[in-house]
Amino acid sequence: MAIILDGKKLRDKIFEDLKNKLDKMPQKPTLAVILAGDNPASQIYVNTKKKTAEKLGIKSVVIEYPSNVTEKEIIDKINELNNDKTITAILVQLPLPGHINKHNVLDTILPQKDVDGLTAFNCGKLFAGEKPYVYPCTPKGILLLLDEYNIEIEGKHVVVLGRSNLVGRPVAQMMLNRNATVTTCHSKTKNLTDIIKTADILISAVGKSVVGENFIKNNCVVIDVGIFKDETGHIRGDVDFDKVSKTASHISPVPGGVGPMTIASLMLNTVELYEISTL
Ligand code: NAP
Repeated sequence: MAIILDGKKLRDKIFEDLKNKLDKMPQKPTLAVILAGDNPASQIYVNTKKKTAEKLGIKSVVIEYPSNVTEKEIIDKINELNNDKTITAILVQLPLPGHINKHNVLDTILPQKDVDGLTAFNCGKLFAGEKPYVYPCTPKGILLLLDEYNIEIEGKHVVVLGRSNLVGRPVAQMMLNRNATVTTCHSKTKNLTDIIKTADILISAVGKSVVGENFIKNNCVVIDVGIFKDETGHIRGDVDFDKVSKTASHISPVPGGVGPMTIASLMLNTVELYEISTL
């Protein structure tokens, strides 16, 4: 049976360290979150981020807009936050309402306040093999989890399923920067199951059941990023956990794997940007 990559346990350890660090800081970081529209999942995510930040001693402000907000209104607000010295981190909750160009919005954020690491500047640094101000939260969380369990990355064949800007592309790049050999797959990939079989480390970020029994080679490390509700309304990941955990060497569960690491990384990034702001 595979070793479980316990994201909750590592998140709690990270939170404890962060709380101790924040308790000693004379001034605290402030995270500003922009939430546009009435997507219920986004509202839950933003609430969790705010509550978690406050529990640790990070200040937070949430700026809410109705779904008919204009791109200009959001961009004007971001410019105001960029110029506000008391705001040290800015996050735009995605997805934005359909009429808004998310790239225009994200690229307005000052790179040194870009807590999700999604501006063109920070992505460009990552893709050039340089250090961005901070790394995108979910990929960073995945790397922290692998490192916690001493899983070697260098020289390994990492197969990433999914090529979103949020997860697939940055995690593939971070793996490449750690000297892995990386294959990125997507909805047009042919012979997906054959490629999955060659993975030493498999990272699945699709949002559908794509990894079943007999898909992986023995002792593969499996990271399941996907979260979705199945036909019965149950939360599940991309990977058939019960079956795949019989042959994997390590596996991250859903829930309790990558999800807690994403929020832990957001809090780490918030504190890292604050420290940069005080240099
Ligand atoms: P996304 O933007 O929808 O991207 C999904 C990717 O999967 C796309 O690149 C798509 O390919 C690819 N894909 C779709 N069907 C496929 C198939 N049959 N085989 C191989 N690839 C396929 O999603 P995302 O934002 O990256 O998120 C992915 C999943 O992770 C979702 O379930 C999301 O909820 C979850 N997530 C979890 C966390 C966390 O903290 N745990 C954080 C972020 C996301 P194309 O590019 O060709 O369309």
